[in-house]
Formats: sequence, C-alpha cells, structure tokens
Amino acid sequence: TDTPVTNGKFTIATDTTFAPFVFKQDGEYVGIDLDLLKAIAANQGFEVELKPIGFDGALNAVKSGQADGITAGMGITDERKQTFDYADPYFESAPVMAVKPDSDIETYADLKGQSVAAKTGTTGYDYAEELAKKHGFTVNGFGDSADMYNDVTNGNSAAAFEDEPVLKYGIKVGNLDLKIAGEPGESTEYGFATLKGKNPELIKMYNDGLKEAKESGAYQQIIDRYLKTEQ
Ligand code: GLN
Repeated sequence: TDTPVTNGKFTIATDTTFAPFVFKQDGEYVGIDLDLLKAIAANQGFEVELKPIGFDGALNAVKSGQADGITAGMGITDERKQTFDYADPYFESAPVMAVKPDSDIETYADLKGQSVAAKTGTTGYDYAEELAKKHGFTVNGFGDSADMYNDVTNGNSAAAFEDEPVLKYGIKVGNLDLKIAGEPGESTEYGFATLKGKNPELIKMYNDGLKEAKESGAYQQIIDRYLKTEQ
C-alpha cells in the first residue's frame, strides 16, 4: 500500500554498475537496492532523487552533504559506523576475486608480483590490500566495476576483487567473462546509510518500510526477481 508523498524528498546516492543490486536496464536504474528503496519510499510516503555516481563518489556525496543517503550494497562495518548511521541490514555478502576463465591463478599466493583491480572505497579493496601485503602483489583502484572488469579482460590486472553475489550474477547472466577464484573475505551485512546524526527520520522511515516490505512479501519478491535460481 502506498502512502501519499508527504514525508519529503531525499537525494540518494548509489553505485553505477553493481548488478544485481544496482544497475541500468532499458535506460532505468533497477536492482535489489533500488527496487527495495522504491518500495520503502512508496510505503513511507517520501520521494527519491537518485544519484548514480559510483561507490566512492556516493560515500563522498553523503559525507559532504550533497546526498541525504546511500544505498549501494554498502557493508556495515565498525569503521564506517564512525561516519555513517545505518538502517537495518537487508542482505549479506563477502568479497572474493575473479580471474579470466583461462587463468591459472587459483589462490591469492599465485598473485605474487602481479597487480589486481579493486573498487576504491570498498571492503573488497581493503581485502585486496590486506592480501597484497601478505602475498606480495599490488592493488590498483577503480571508480566503477565495469572499468575494473575491463582491466582484467585486457590483461592489465591479473584479478578483480568484488562482492561474490555480484560476480556470480554477472557470470550467470553472461555479462562477465570471468571465473571466481580464492576464498571469500569477511562477510558484511548491507545497509542503507546516512551521515551520522544527520537524518534520523530517514533511517526510521527506511527501517519501518523495510519491516513492512518483509511482512508483506515485497522484500522476498524483490530478492527472487534477481536471485531466484530455479527458472
Ligand atoms: N559491499 C562492498 C562495500 O561495502 C562493495 C559495495 C559496492 O561496490 N557497491 O564496500
């Protein structure tokens, strides 16, 4: 059930290419994060102006007050909690690496002396950096996932670091000519976020709307729309 739009308009920053959570389809931004935000906004009676500007860009937009909130498969971490307030989690995943289908890289130790691609500001980037120190490789930062994958495809980077469901989805739908290798890093829950202390009413509406979406089945419908395996 939709509530009349009387509870304001919010600018929400997001990633550009992060299917199945955020991506452009037939000229429109869709995905788990955005379908869920849309359902919550309708239910809670607020309007959304979407800013798809990349993950790091989205973090910075919220930090600088250019956006009110962020939904971008953003992991809830203790470090980020110093800067952001989070709504209740709606998903959970961990970063892992992807290599070319014909690559003989199987473990992180096989990356010794090579360079890898990771998305700036992400938990996948941090995971890559941690492994790089241990195994002696270098990490190049990219603003968006498409550029990161290209760098692997064209042979500049030996691997890309990305959240596992994003890689699995891309491989499954045939958008990504890569394979998963190595063990996933630490799993984090995804949460909608605002700048710390700035938008408590928006966090409350998001939480109320998420609860409602779970109770009504809308949440499960959205998850199934993108992730149901049996077709
Ligand atoms: N879940 C990861 C993070 O929180 C990646 C998010 C993204 O790339 N959009 O950093």
